[in-house]
Amino acid sequence: MKDLEPTDQPMSEVKETTYWKSLSELANNKEYQKFTEREFPENATELSDGVSRRGFLRVMGASVALAGLASCRRPVQKILPYSKQPEDVVEGKPLYYATAMPVQGNLVGLIAENHEGRPTKLEGNDMHPASKGGTSIYNQAAILGLYDPDRSKSPLNNGNKVSRQEFEEFAASHFANTNQRIAFISEANSSPTYNKLKEQALSKFSNASWVTYEPFGEDNVLEGSRIAFGSRLRPHYQYGNADVVVSLNDDFMASTHPNSVEYAKQLSARRKVTDTSGELNRIYAVEDTFSLTGSYADNRLRLKASQVEAFTYALAAALSTRVNGLDAFSGYSNEFSDHKWITVLADELAANAGNSTVSAGAQHKAEVHAAVAAINQALGNAGSTVQYLDVPHVDEQSSQQAFADVVADMKAGNIDTAVIVGANPAYTASGSVDFKNALSNIETVINLSDYVDETARASHWHVNRAHFLEAWGDGYSYSGARSIIQPQILPLHDGLSEIEFLNAIVNGSIGKGYDLVQETFRSYYNTGFENRWTTILHDGIDTADNFNAPSVSLASGFGSNMSRATSNVSTNSGIEVVIKPDATLYDGRYANLGWLQELPDPMTKVTWDNVALMSPATAEQLGVENEDVVEITVNGQSVRIAAWLQPGHADDSITLTTGYGRKGLGRVATSYIDYTAGGVDVYPLRNAENALYASADVSSTGDTYEIACVQDHHSLEGRDMYRQASISEYKENPDFASFESVHTYPVPGMKEAKEMGEDEPISLFDEQTYPDYEPQWGMAIDLNSCFGCGVCVIACQSENNIPVIGKKEVKNGREMHWIRNDRYYVGDNADEPQAVHQPVPCMHCELAPCEQVCPVAATTHSEDGMNQMTYNRCIGTRYCANNCPYKVRRFNFFNYPKEYLTTGDDPDIIQMAMNPEVTVRFRGVMEKCTYCVQRVNRAKIEAKKETGSPKPADGTVKTACQQACPADAIYFGDLTDDNSEVAKMKRNERNFQMLEELNTRPRTSYMAKLTNPNPALA
Ligand code: SF4
Repeated sequence: MKDLEPTDQPMSEVKETTYWKSLSELANNKEYQKFTEREFPENATELSDGVSRRGFLRVMGASVALAGLASCRRPVQKILPYSKQPEDVVEGKPLYYATAMPVQGNLVGLIAENHEGRPTKLEGNDMHPASKGGTSIYNQAAILGLYDPDRSKSPLNNGNKVSRQEFEEFAASHFANTNQRIAFISEANSSPTYNKLKEQALSKFSNASWVTYEPFGEDNVLEGSRIAFGSRLRPHYQYGNADVVVSLNDDFMASTHPNSVEYAKQLSARRKVTDTSGELNRIYAVEDTFSLTGSYADNRLRLKASQVEAFTYALAAALSTRVNGLDAFSGYSNEFSDHKWITVLADELAANAGNSTVSAGAQHKAEVHAAVAAINQALGNAGSTVQYLDVPHVDEQSSQQAFADVVADMKAGNIDTAVIVGANPAYTASGSVDFKNALSNIETVINLSDYVDETARASHWHVNRAHFLEAWGDGYSYSGARSIIQPQILPLHDGLSEIEFLNAIVNGSIGKGYDLVQETFRSYYNTGFENRWTTILHDGIDTADNFNAPSVSLASGFGSNMSRATSNVSTNSGIEVVIKPDATLYDGRYANLGWLQELPDPMTKVTWDNVALMSPATAEQLGVENEDVVEITVNGQSVRIAAWLQPGHADDSITLTTGYGRKGLGRVATSYIDYTAGGVDVYPLRNAENALYASADVSSTGDTYEIACVQDHHSLEGRDMYRQASISEYKENPDFASFESVHTYPVPGMKEAKEMGEDEPISLFDEQTYPDYEPQWGMAIDLNSCFGCGVCVIACQSENNIPVIGKKEVKNGREMHWIRNDRYYVGDNADEPQAVHQPVPCMHCELAPCEQVCPVAATTHSEDGMNQMTYNRCIGTRYCANNCPYKVRRFNFFNYPKEYLTTGDDPDIIQMAMNPEVTVRFRGVMEKCTYCVQRVNRAKIEAKKETGSPKPADGTVKTACQQACPADAIYFGDLTDDNSEVAKMKRNERNFQMLEELNTRPRTSYMAKLTNPNPALA
């Protein structure tokens, strides 16, 4: 072998080093150095604080136990064969059925994978418009919710267990009195069967009222349409058709949005660029908190939430001089009228009239939504890039007003019975409402919920709700596609679905969900019902038609409404508090799911807690740093919560998220020493009149509170790991992502390799040869599509039985996720950085540094090019992790499953959640991404049976992360197939390898990101 010429260039030198994960890294301070110098998580023999592992595991519920039972050190268990084999079941072969998940009342079409009668994994349904094959984090985590041992398991009467028959008898006798004053408070529900029962309830009980209650619902959006167009219409955007997208504090790509998957699919498809002839649309985000949509935007402006209203009116006024239809804003001006962004946006929108979208965050005032609707109408976007849908099941009146009215009635003693379906207002209602107090005035409170939650505990009767995977149901997607919810398993705890619960109240008997749904669907089909029913169940969708989209025009009172709004607009001059749904727990309904608790917040990377997010300047003004506890007071209500500095956050603004600070909900959600969720309940600070923001008094308490944040874990310490360019730079220099374009020196060893007739630098190590008959697997991740949602992380966790380790262990840097999502800030300005996302799984290096150092050959290479782990051989030296430059190997510091199995209290249920195709690891074993080898091998076997070759056709095998990704950012396939999608991506000039200079030859590579910033805002 020829000696390589020494280079005096440092290996890390890149032309620009502008990527940083945290303010500590930017400052390169002691805190950052401490973690990176240690580099690998602390050794472990025992938990260090005296709490036994057993105690820890007891509190972790299904989340940890999923690490479970298939371990080769598991207790011996007997397996019995079927005495009567079900016709369709072949043991070891999964079956797939269509179903749909209600998300904030809207159905998302899913496909459930079932093993021997139990669902184990959920995927998006390609045929369903709300998923188009993708999923959100909530869709992925729903399987954990099904098997959560902390779900409510029985109806309760005054806290005592009763049978469902006893509830049925009670309902029949209690609701025989049809004159009583009943308040129905229900979460949003699009089910036609449910809404039929609602109509029956309102006609049967003459003194009943019905309120749809969602803490982060769409009421203001609907009211905005009413002000603008005279009807409560739902805007449904077509981002794929829009050349200019303007988000006014609307994080529509995040899982917290009810239509996030469809929107992410649309927008990312519009950003696919395969060569220099491609074009990008342009995305603008105006927002207070750094959001996922904001990080995907080409231009971002930080504004306080209370300034968005004035900004919107200024934009409408600027547009009124460019397009017709905005006379209501003509001549109006405010402090933003001369803002550079207003002129730029007005010019861009006017130039792209009919091909643009403007949207506002759902919690902004109705008047903001009215102005936005008028802008879309004036631009000709209405009917083109945005449809205004007439949704039959939304309330005709303002839900917020109806909720306020019913609470007033409750307080005044005007309600005899409250029926609360699914919602949890005792936890989520604004502090100013004092819902619990109102509830205590009522003689009979009946509730249906998943957990014995805050509302259930304040009710006289509680009924345990069946999970959507256990019960028949129906409903509509966000845009109006009708589907049936097909159960995958009998109710584990004999729970009732919403329609069965309501049927018991309205008709005196629970009935059968199946019959109730069939009755609804029979009404749609006079003939051929049986065939149609079978087709719907098979496809998971009945009709993909949208709701009616009437043509819209401005309502007669629009001008006067806007005149009132523009003359009353005001912004908070001091510090304001903004309350938003949490990125992973939403409004708190997912708080007991350990996968979601441990999924790092996509922007802050904080796990297991909520924090008070603020800009570095605001933190300085308050004299606080990360983890300093601040006291925040709004309208006399106070909370104490840890501060967290968020680069890019608006100044004089603090963002809080909901879902934390739970008491008694379940073992994961309830704070238990340092292992499970902590955080603070911030709903008391919420104000019913303006639920989004309020003026606040904030002060430092002098206390500190530890936060488990992963942003500096697995750091690549400023090495070259991310590449991006603007679309115009790409057109000028298509090779911008090449090593030579980025570095000040050529790929080490390449010159010598070329002289020897090689394409790649030569290696010190023996190189593996790969047989021609085998496929060669590779992955490419398009950074232009990825927006950092984290769905891939949860999909991988679900597919591969990855354990949750708890807050304390995350803090020690021991998180087990096989794919991590690195979020980098870009630029030297901590106030105005760009943010980008990079998923990092095992790179499956052809010259894998991990393989060279394993003393027992536990990590080796397969003939189809995968870096594989032989768990039985691993002796836990962790040399491989130390030698991995990508830091993607994960070590089991504890034997979670063994401990749990010998002490757990719900093993039967937990066993059902396991993916039986994946081996489970135990203490002392290294693990990492396998490219979902179980899926690969299944596809190879099928291909060999059908064609004689183990090379599956392109697209027949998808990794879990790839399948779940709502942005189609991940490509996987056989590199020996020149026509495979992944091979095409690897040939693209944007393709690059992370740390290429190390000559590890990773099989996973990246497509460099492209942006389209407006030069006028540079
Ligand atoms: S690659 Fe992962 S983080 Fe990126 S968009 Fe897809 S699922 Fe979300």
